[in-house]
Amino acid sequence: MIAPELDLRLLIGGRRVAGEGVPLPTFAPATGEVMAHVPSASAAQLDAAVTAARRAFDGWSATPPAARARCLFALADAIEARFPAIAALESRNAGHPLARVLEDEAHPIIDPFRYFAGVARAPSGLAATEFVEGATSIIRRDAVGVIGQIVPWNYPLMMATWKIAPAIAAGNTVVVKPAEQTPLSLLALADLFAEHLPPGVVNIICGDGPTVGAGVVAHPDVDMVSLTGDIGTGQAVMAAAAPTLKRLHLELGGKAPVIVWPDADVDAAVAAVRGAGFYNAGQDCTAACRVFAHADVYAEVVAKLGEAAASLKAGPLDDPTTELSPLVSARQRDRVDGFVRRAEALPHGRIVTGGQRPDRPGYWFEPTVIADVGLGDEIVDREVFGPVVSVSRFGAGEDVVAAANATRYGLAASVWTRDVGRAMTAARRLRYGTVWVNTHLIWPSEAPHGGMKASGMGKEMSIYGYEDYTVVRHVCVDLG
Ligand code: NAD
Repeated sequence: MIAPELDLRLLIGGRRVAGEGVPLPTFAPATGEVMAHVPSASAAQLDAAVTAARRAFDGWSATPPAARARCLFALADAIEARFPAIAALESRNAGHPLARVLEDEAHPIIDPFRYFAGVARAPSGLAATEFVEGATSIIRRDAVGVIGQIVPWNYPLMMATWKIAPAIAAGNTVVVKPAEQTPLSLLALADLFAEHLPPGVVNIICGDGPTVGAGVVAHPDVDMVSLTGDIGTGQAVMAAAAPTLKRLHLELGGKAPVIVWPDADVDAAVAAVRGAGFYNAGQDCTAACRVFAHADVYAEVVAKLGEAAASLKAGPLDDPTTELSPLVSARQRDRVDGFVRRAEALPHGRIVTGGQRPDRPGYWFEPTVIADVGLGDEIVDREVFGPVVSVSRFGAGEDVVAAANATRYGLAASVWTRDVGRAMTAARRLRYGTVWVNTHLIWPSEAPHGGMKASGMGKEMSIYGYEDYTVVRHVCVDLG
């Protein structure tokens, strides 16, 4: 146990309470050591959390937006003041290099509270008017109710605040479940939620997916579920939500294509894939993991990407020069290894660099580039969620956009070309929630993030994410 000082209690109705369910081990991915055993919520505690959220709803949803905004600003300030300690915990539990948490993740973790505090004060929509003579129609946008929020392990705190901030800004109350692998950073915020919000507005319960997660989805008093997770989990949640007809907000998997045309700045594209394909060891739903390079630049892209990936530095997470993350768990590392072994066995696939597990403690895997693969190969078609980038060749007459669209995923894509018309045409045709042009992985709070097709429904961040946590209503007054 390397973190005995942590407060592992849940947050229910504004109080910290010890979980009465099964304790689950949580690991430090860089070393494989057990950090803590985190007690799950019992069924009665899950119910108590939903009841607390329900009790808090009437008061919180009727609180004026400016007053809610003050709470969100106070929360943002409090998290910011404690961020170095929170970042150290996130780094150890999620396996992210500490410098990346401090420099890259702080803003997207904290900013949602400030951004949505502002959004809540500027609701938009149709103006009230008399669509029928003698009757005034007023369009309202109100909070949905109690939201169950189920968080993944890849960016534990960022994915949690992307859900909590818009939901509570809009006047909802929430029951949040972190992933069983990475509950520690969200638990570290529990006292701050208790201090800056009325009791029951944010409740945190821990536990696994099939028991506690599924319990939240099935609970009759939860009005909506927001999940970020695997497509299979999204399907299970959708089926489980059917009996109670819950609203759903699903942010699921991705397999981002990166299309490199011959007129692209190849060095810039390679640098972007080095960053965005291997960031967080590729455990990123928008990872730049599926390169399609035109035949004229294919050899150059493969060679340069191989060199770039091989140059990524692994090391202790608190070393500021460390670039690579380990995988989150032994299971995830084994899963990635399986994908690579099956690609290696293809008659045509070629491992340009990496492909092995280094002989060291923890769940590391070498940054890997696999070339000469294409549609129909598992490594190109399925989300690996590891430090593995595939490179496929396309020829002059081929419709590469159609090839990039030939997948069930639809979260994010990037196109690399100096031809504005080609870029804009591709951006229109690509069936992905985000398309980047000559860049990959820019996501301001103001822009929507979310998928098409099996990558999910609903948006995180932006005014659209806020609106997902509201319901549009019509009030009609007969003027008599
Ligand atoms: P996961 O689906 O295994 O787990 C996600 C969460 O769902 C966890 O909290 C888990 O406990 C819970 N869960 C599991 N089964 C459940 C069930 N039956 N009912 C209710 N809850 C359940 O996903 P993961 O492995 O933690 O995360 C990786 C996945 O998340 C990848 O597929 C990745 O692409 C996706 N992801 C998507 C986005 C996005 O914005 N679209 C962002 C990050 C991650």
